[in-house]
Amino acid sequence: MNSTKSILEGRPALKEEIDKVAEIAGYLWQNGWAERNGGNITINITQLVDDGIRKLPAIDEVKSIGETLPHLKGCYFFCKGTGKRMRDLARWPMKNGSVIRILDDCAHYEIIADQPVLPTSELPSHLAVHNRLVGEGSAYKATIHTHPIELVALSHHRPFLKKDVLTHLLWSMIPETKAFCPLGLGIVPYQLPGSVELAKGTMKELEEYDVVLWEKHGVFAKGLDVLDAFDQIDVLSKSAKIYLECKSMGFEPEGMSDAQMKEMTKAFNLPK
Ligand SMILES: [Zn+2]
Repeated sequence: MNSTKSILEGRPALKEEIDKVAEIAGYLWQNGWAERNGGNITINITQLVDDGIRKLPAIDEVKSIGETLPHLKGCYFFCKGTGKRMRDLARWPMKNGSVIRILDDCAHYEIIADQPVLPTSELPSHLAVHNRLVGEGSAYKATIHTHPIELVALSHHRPFLKKDVLTHLLWSMIPETKAFCPLGLGIVPYQLPGSVELAKGTMKELEEYDVVLWEKHGVFAKGLDVLDAFDQIDVLSKSAKIYLECKSMGFEPEGMSDAQMKEMTKAFNLPK
């Protein structure tokens, strides 16, 4: 076996998905949302796995997930590596992330390619979300966690943390935000990073929203692919920037009226 051969060679569909991860990792860094090793990306690549990949041996010892995730039996994921930087993931995805296989007990995983890069410490919470998505038969394949500056800034204001206050504020800044983030923004009260409580709060809010704001920390989003998950964070962030621009000019933005918002819902056949 040639150890320098990448799993992506001769697999254009898989390479395309990893290229998307690299593209988005670059945007997260360029946007200033991914200082140091901040943020995570995990994508479900099971549908792109062939017999050759299924036969690949583990390249590192079997690891415990920390919980049992029954819907992930035999699933494969690409995950950012622990301690790795988004700006490096953008340039060298297979050196700063790895492909893992979930074992049949649904409680352990092994790294199969390209290098024994240990997945992110947030892996259990990302996998718990994927477990639910697979269980629901969802077409969603990607999860992102990142630190968007303006959205995190807004989370420092207590009145904004009430249910759907920010959703309506951000929707009202520019019509497309409601069209392209039609479920709005969920809120998860502050919890220790990496904690079970944070994962539980996230899971709960993701039942209703595609993007959730972690108080004083960042956002967690799910999407069809990593571009879709990023786009939803990006449109919310754009609205947050407009709001803050208005405030910095010394006035409270008027925002679209309720009638204009209703008109958007009707015209674009939106769920809310
Ligand atoms: Zn974070």
